[in-house]
Amino acid sequence: MDFDDTPDEAAWRAEVRAFLTAHRDEHAADPRAWQALLYDAGFVGVTWPADAGGRGGTPMQQAIVDQETARLGLPALINLIGIGMCGPTVIVHGSDDQKRRYLKRLLRADDLWCQLFSEPAAGSDLAALRTRAVRDGNGGWRVTGQKVWTTLAHLADYGILLTRTNADVPKHRGLTMFVVDMKAPGVTVRPLRQMNGESHFNEVFFDDVAIPDTERLGEPGQGWTVALTTLMNERLSLGGGGTGVGAKPETVARHVAERIGGLSPDRQVLARQQLGRGYVAALGARYTGYRQLSRISHGELPGPEASAGKLSGTRSARDLADLAVRVLGEDAAVAGGTWQNLQAVLPGMAIAGGSDQVLRNIIGERVLGLPAEPRVDKGAPA
Ligand SMILES: Cc1cc2nc3c(=O)[nH]c(=O)nc-3n(C[C@H](O)[C@H](O)[C@H](O)COP(=O)(O)OP(=O)(O)OC[C@H]3O[C@@H](n4cnc5c(N)ncnc54)[C@H](O)[C@@H]3O)c2cc1C
Repeated sequence: MDFDDTPDEAAWRAEVRAFLTAHRDEHAADPRAWQALLYDAGFVGVTWPADAGGRGGTPMQQAIVDQETARLGLPALINLIGIGMCGPTVIVHGSDDQKRRYLKRLLRADDLWCQLFSEPAAGSDLAALRTRAVRDGNGGWRVTGQKVWTTLAHLADYGILLTRTNADVPKHRGLTMFVVDMKAPGVTVRPLRQMNGESHFNEVFFDDVAIPDTERLGEPGQGWTVALTTLMNERLSLGGGGTGVGAKPETVARHVAERIGGLSPDRQVLARQQLGRGYVAALGARYTGYRQLSRISHGELPGPEASAGKLSGTRSARDLADLAVRVLGEDAAVAGGTWQNLQAVLPGMAIAGGSDQVLRNIIGERVLGLPAEPRVDKGAPA
């Protein structure tokens, strides 16, 4: 593990820190304008090639932007899913025309994007999806089906949409990916309410929606390969480079230290134990992130240890948020605010982008070399 910035990295960090510090108060007014401001300054799409609207920089430069953003407590960019997943998929599989029309606008948040993969009966087993795309006889496609848990669909202008175009071949081979216009006739978005009262994700219904063939990403039947590009980028962007999810463990420790005197002696012991466990797991995730960054800094790709970082990061963030609420004692029922919001939001992090159980399978099989889980339906049609 290498904690030191190279001279170039240190100069870049200073530039990023100075800009973010000078403009930090501007983020709250309009999330789209905030992203455009950062894009115009060269801090969005750092690793994207210049002809895709990016800066052509290094993953380490992007990681430094992420770290400095987290250090100042600034929120994630509004078009996070577009930048992390949809855009990289268009870069690899899109036509020149699609790249020209979509990518720069995506980076500036002129258009917002969403990822339309999960369905009521296809989440971890994504290849089982049923949304059908059929040829319309005039060179285009018609799409009918339902997606669910689609983050940002209620605001999105475009989405990447994984569909089934052949139900007679093994399920991974009958898929095709498209860019879909979220304002097209036949697209209905219904917000879902989360347990903190907010609505960030949605059900999306497609009722005979027309999609031109020029909006296909990759060849018909190659949708799984295209989706793997998206999912690999999702895991990389969730890795977070050691910035972590939830509250910083040091912040939780301070909060607990200030209130622990109000607990009974037995509960004080329990609270200390829980703080210790959560703190150690959070540091485990943080150093796994740093190890990943060291590999990136030396020009290597992060390995499957990204799964371990996400697993222990979300576990410890949940434990620490539970503890922070518990030490509020009687105030907890009316406290609302940051801690209870975290307690309500973090369980979703243990599901999104690969559930804890699925990540454990990956660690078991690809890191520890254990025998593979039985997959009886592998190779069968959906
Ligand atoms: C906050 C949030 C945002 C999301 N945003 C999006 C989005 O923008 N776009 C999108 O397409 N999707 C999105 N999702 C959906 C997400 O990708 C799925 O929820 C996830 O893939 C799990 O699928 P599922 O919900 O169908 O659960 P299931 O796959 O049905 O899993 C149910 C349970 O079974 C376990 N399980 C499943 N398979 C295995 C296995 N092989 N071995 C052991 N255990 C297993 C799971 O761990 C889980 O506990 C989002 C989800 C959340 C929580």
